[in-house]
Amino acid sequence: MSKKYIIAIVAVYCIIVAGCATSRLPTDNIPRYALYGTNYLPLAPVCDAQDIVLEYDPFTQVLLLSKKTHRLALRVGDPFALVDGQLHYFDHPAVLRDGTIIIPESFNRGILQRFFMDKPSLPAQAKVVQPSSIKRIVIDAGHGGKDPGAISASGLREKTVNLDIAKRLAKLLKDEGFSVYLTRSTDTFVPLSVRTATANSFKADLFISIHSNANRVRSMNGFEVYYVSPAVNDTERGFSAIGKEIPSVKAVELVSASPQLKATLWDMVYTHNRGESIQLGRLICRSVAGVLDNQILGLKGARYYVLRGTDMPALLIEVGFLSNSREERLLGDGLYRQRIAQGINEGIVRYVRELSFAEKEN
Ligand SMILES: [Zn+2]
Repeated sequence: MSKKYIIAIVAVYCIIVAGCATSRLPTDNIPRYALYGTNYLPLAPVCDAQDIVLEYDPFTQVLLLSKKTHRLALRVGDPFALVDGQLHYFDHPAVLRDGTIIIPESFNRGILQRFFMDKPSLPAQAKVVQPSSIKRIVIDAGHGGKDPGAISASGLREKTVNLDIAKRLAKLLKDEGFSVYLTRSTDTFVPLSVRTATANSFKADLFISIHSNANRVRSMNGFEVYYVSPAVNDTERGFSAIGKEIPSVKAVELVSASPQLKATLWDMVYTHNRGESIQLGRLICRSVAGVLDNQILGLKGARYYVLRGTDMPALLIEVGFLSNSREERLLGDGLYRQRIAQGINEGIVRYVRELSFAEKEN
């Protein structure tokens, strides 16, 4: 057989195999319900079958679906979703029925399959929208001026430690090519509301607040990272934000939107950002663990004001305990503070690289 024939046969075989792979879906054997003139299927097994991580906040009824670098936020009862920060509409909403969340077949095929499958079975000309690269980062040094924050036994002030690490981190991030803004670069008092307003008006892609910990239990030590806890009422946040421009949602789509719709969209933006914050926080913890011998207490949810007021993925980092004698000594050492800044920088760079890798993949 000539080489040409072999190539042709292999090519035909590949097309057949690829064709079969796209027509058989991992969700095909999940039972459907006929409802409101369409086919519905339960969301949990659909996510399981496609290795999608599903989180549900029963209070706001917002669902967050994530897989690798993709994030999708939607709410029960609303026929639209924020997919990687972009608004997408579908014909029927997700419904809560007998305690089970069910989604229309069109949502499974049109949105989930499209955005979450490893090899999207999309026509070549359809572009999968990915989060745009992170370019602008706001670094917030906690406390300052009349507010010293925690003070160690030897008199080391939290505001000083925070500012030093914030400046070191800003320098490292600038060297990586990011546009960086510090909420304070000197020992001055800046109200929390001004810090968040600054981040929002700078249109930051990420907000990182640097703090040092203190605890009455002197043995407490370690590095920890906080994101906005899901227990924060997103609907309330949503309604308080309806006058604001929604990032990544086209203005034309919002002109006719009702306050309820705008509040819902904000809910989704916050849910989406929380997913991003968690991913970034995990990578920062991992990178810092690689450069510090200290204990990594990990990633936690909290209701810090400075995080709640931001419109972008946001983290509050507690670099160590000034109330612990060993960590106090370490935090007083410039070399140690530099290593912390390097660890945080590395985590951010890894996160941004993951996002841009996902962009290139598609
Ligand atoms: Zn603090």
